[in-house]
Amino acid sequence: MKTVSVNASKKYNIYIGDNLFSSVTDYLSKVFPEGKICVVTDDTVDGLYGDSLMNQLSGKYDTVKFVMKHGEKSKNISTYASLLNFLAQNHITRSDAILAFGGGVVGDLAGFAAATFLRGIKYLQIPTTLLAMVDSSVGGKTAIDLDAGKNLCGAFYQPEIVICDYSLTKTLSDEIFSDGCAEIIKYALISDYDLFCHLSEKGKDFDREYVITRCIEIKSEIVAADEFDGAVRQLLNYGHTIGHAIEALSDYKITHGSAVAAGMAIMAKTCEDKEICAPSCYEDTVSLIKAFDLPTSASYKSSEIASAILSDKKRKGANITLVLPEKTGKCVLKKFPIEEIENFILAGLKI
Ligand code: NAD
Repeated sequence: MKTVSVNASKKYNIYIGDNLFSSVTDYLSKVFPEGKICVVTDDTVDGLYGDSLMNQLSGKYDTVKFVMKHGEKSKNISTYASLLNFLAQNHITRSDAILAFGGGVVGDLAGFAAATFLRGIKYLQIPTTLLAMVDSSVGGKTAIDLDAGKNLCGAFYQPEIVICDYSLTKTLSDEIFSDGCAEIIKYALISDYDLFCHLSEKGKDFDREYVITRCIEIKSEIVAADEFDGAVRQLLNYGHTIGHAIEALSDYKITHGSAVAAGMAIMAKTCEDKEICAPSCYEDTVSLIKAFDLPTSASYKSSEIASAILSDKKRKGANITLVLPEKTGKCVLKKFPIEEIENFILAGLKI
């Protein structure tokens, strides 16, 4: 078992290990010794692990459970409002807690409810997807989607504890596991050459504890330096600017992980072509992405990708900050005038 301490505006621990779930109350009681817990989960996770969780919790806590339908479509204002009403009807007070038990959708929505119900109640997390373990449960970004776009309403709100039991990932579909792998590849490419070497050698058989812990350490360090996303936290967007455009152009038929993987490969190709990165960088990027059966290109024109990037509702101003590879295991941030984007990424699409 490994522990990572996050030094954000609130300090908390993330525990990473195999089968931590079977002693979940031991971990929770470190930060939440008594009170009522509202478990928030989705129907898939509830069907797999809900009874086991509720049996364990009920030995120690007064508990209630809110189950939402699985999938991104549930991360909306209507589910959020239903959860707030459920909390009120069940007399949840400021000394009680929400426990998010699921992937990033559950974590983002439950976290936003925890941030806002009664102006903030305790927030506990047990992420159940690889993506949620290495990414969405770390760093306190919570949100729901609006009709106008993803994650447009939310709050920065750090949890009290995160319990990452990677044995829970055994029931993930290959596609959802791969989505998490794209984020793991991202951490290696932005800041850890040793992690890159481990992933290149082991592929999907990577050492779960080492890799998940390393990704959480990298994200925690970045969050501690820039909790509110004004500067270095943007490094975590490597592959995401182009990736989000690809997702949107495909009408979300291309998954987030596949789109991000293609986004990183396209950016590395562009940077190789313009001699921005070391000569081996593109080759390294593509071979690692291929080892995880993720795509390294997309069948869209640079004009289509550029216009999808420019129509992103969260983009502002005449410049855009892109994450560029410098060498394998190191990326940097660079501001670009928006009118140069189409031309800049053109070289990355000539594969
Ligand atoms: P998700 O929560 O939709 O989970 C994917 C699917 O896996 C769901 O159908 C779920 O029911 C199922 N599932 C979850 N755990 C399972 C398990 N152990 N076994 C079997 N099935 C399981 O998706 P996700 O990929 O975890 O998260 C994506 C969301 O995370 C997006 O909404 C994205 O915006 C958000 N996100 C947030 C941050 C952040 O910093 N807050 C960062 C990255 C992504």
